[in-house]
Amino acid sequence: MEKNEIYLIHGTDYFEMTKRLLSEAGLSDMIGERDASVGIKPNLVAASAPSQGATTHGEVVAGLLAYLQEQGFSRITVMEGSWVGADTMRSLRAAGYDQVLKRYQVPFVDLQKDGFREYDASGMKIKVCDAALSVDFMINVPVLKGHCQTTVTCALKNNKGVIPNSEKRRFHTLGLHKPIAHLNTVAKNDFILVDNICGDLDFEEGGNPVPMDRILGFADPVLCDAFVCDTMGFSVSEVPYIGMAEALGVGSSDLSQAKLHALNEPVSAVPSGRPARRVEKLSRYVLADDACSACYGSLIHALNRMDEAGLLEKRLLKHPIAIGQGWQKKEGEIGIGRCSGCCRRSLKGCPPKAGEIFSFLEACWGK
Ligand code: SF4
Repeated sequence: MEKNEIYLIHGTDYFEMTKRLLSEAGLSDMIGERDASVGIKPNLVAASAPSQGATTHGEVVAGLLAYLQEQGFSRITVMEGSWVGADTMRSLRAAGYDQVLKRYQVPFVDLQKDGFREYDASGMKIKVCDAALSVDFMINVPVLKGHCQTTVTCALKNNKGVIPNSEKRRFHTLGLHKPIAHLNTVAKNDFILVDNICGDLDFEEGGNPVPMDRILGFADPVLCDAFVCDTMGFSVSEVPYIGMAEALGVGSSDLSQAKLHALNEPVSAVPSGRPARRVEKLSRYVLADDACSACYGSLIHALNRMDEAGLLEKRLLKHPIAIGQGWQKKEGEIGIGRCSGCCRRSLKGCPPKAGEIFSFLEACWGK
């Protein structure tokens, strides 16, 4: 897999999706020798079920472990340090990893309790946990989600879990962006497997999950986070640590040079359970009929951005936005996605990105 490649798969069988994506991306060839030590760094920020949009799904980690063991890798360690104030082992159990690790007989390192050393991270002294830098190959498994301080969080910020608690506190006093960028000049990002199943709209700790039902693979963490901005309707310039990391040589944010491998088509998924309150509020503007999760999720992200910008007004309710495969032959006013082509005004794409939806709706309704 080249640095500019992106692998993307849709669906709801997260275990099988993960295995297929890793196989298509050729992860075993990237790792190389079968006796290489492999680290897996999920996001277990706090004790929260993955369905809440904060933590990496256990099925994704299970799919990754199954793939690696089938390929002959046996020196595998899962590691993480929850945020300050949360107990990593509680987070581990809340996300169901205790069962996954038992099934695959893989050890876990609580990085909150690990030793650490200070490194020169391109001109900034940063302490990093020993286990995280001792492996030959590190697989970063973040959740694609919003963040109240850094706007978005995915690959680059997930590495905040590989530093000791004292350093996490110091990062906050330094404004997060600069130290996150520098950290990624020493932290390992050999492969990035992104859980884009139902990441939270705004908060690192979850509570407003937006179902997207996707898993992605990257070889470049900067490209990954630039893609995340696109997915959530932000520009890269709105998330300073991405440009800073790029300037330090961590990777490239140039999505125009990216090669996307979509392994299948988006699927229509029947939503399970009641949506989170904020998502439910935004969905008042939507007339969904058999919508794919990736399409619907992009629209929710775009509406959230419009709401934050003060552009969602009651008049929008007069013409709810049509979306979904059930709109293929139906007429409407405003539609999102290829399936809404019969609407008077419709945005092409399958699925369109949140940024495109934001611009389209802004043009439809005026600023
Ligand atoms: S355009 Fe239609 S088929 Fe494509 S993602 Fe949206 S709802 Fe699904």
